[in-house]
Amino acid sequence: MRTPAARWTASLALTATALLAAGCGAEGDDAAADGELTVVAGFYPLEWAAARVGGNRIAVTSLTPSGAEAHDLELTPRDVGAVGSADLLVYLEGFQPALDEAAAEAGDAAWDAGQAADLVEGEHAHGDEEHADEEDGHGDEAVDPHFWLDPTRLAAVGDALAERLTELDPDGAATYEGNAAALRADLEALDAEMQEGLAGCAVDTLVTSHEAFGYLAERYGLDVVGISGLSPSQEPSAAGLAEITGLVRDRGITTVYTETLVDPAVAETVAEEAGVRTAVLDPIEGLTDESAGEDYLQVMRANLATLQEGQGCS
Ligand SMILES: [Zn+2]
Repeated sequence: MRTPAARWTASLALTATALLAAGCGAEGDDAAADGELTVVAGFYPLEWAAARVGGNRIAVTSLTPSGAEAHDLELTPRDVGAVGSADLLVYLEGFQPALDEAAAEAGDAAWDAGQAADLVEGEHAHGDEEHADEEDGHGDEAVDPHFWLDPTRLAAVGDALAERLTELDPDGAATYEGNAAALRADLEALDAEMQEGLAGCAVDTLVTSHEAFGYLAERYGLDVVGISGLSPSQEPSAAGLAEITGLVRDRGITTVYTETLVDPAVAETVAEEAGVRTAVLDPIEGLTDESAGEDYLQVMRANLATLQEGQGCS
């Protein structure tokens, strides 16, 4: 599938990276010429964190178009070229299969955010393990990729990214370190608000459209049941749906959560069957015009307000 030209571009980029790291300057690398590193991110939270940490020393773009579902990313030939010529690809192993291949090709120019996020298997926060076992399309070793919904894990990724950018651009060390510290401060403030806001909820179980909120639930002492699996394309069976509907009734759940980027039909069916309402809880896999905020922090605060109302938190 890869063209010789793409491979050539990738090897040029690696050479440029090696030269930069050695402090020799990189002639022929456009980004280096105007002093910016080019960073390509897999999807929105990685793009946002990279932009915060890199500041004006990097030019960052996201491979997932605005409004597209991030799990199902497909790379155009242009995307492949962008990955091949970037100084750094920031991606998440196992989250976007199309990008795992490109990352393998990019070699040392690819940086897996999951390494710093301390990922765990998908069943970590489940009240009812049978739901995950039933619908788990990735086998029993499936790792939950959705680390950014725990702000403290995103802060850890920001710190690690500062170190990786410093390897590529040692002159920026102080900038990257300072930016990562500022990012960490913002994320820790958010975390404190969420700890406080979700401390006393009448209902502890979240029923969400897909299995995206395991890390959030784990962090804030909630259980989560995803109607679909770790990927929105892992749709539930009729028996699975009936079981979740029963669970909604049994646990006194008042709200079933839909998402901005996934068809709400299945979640709406569960809510209707169980006689409860729906609200949008955003897994922040991408922003759209309908997002409840303009960046990660704003959408997380909107999520907090949604959860406080939907879970009856005092
Ligand atoms: Zn997801």
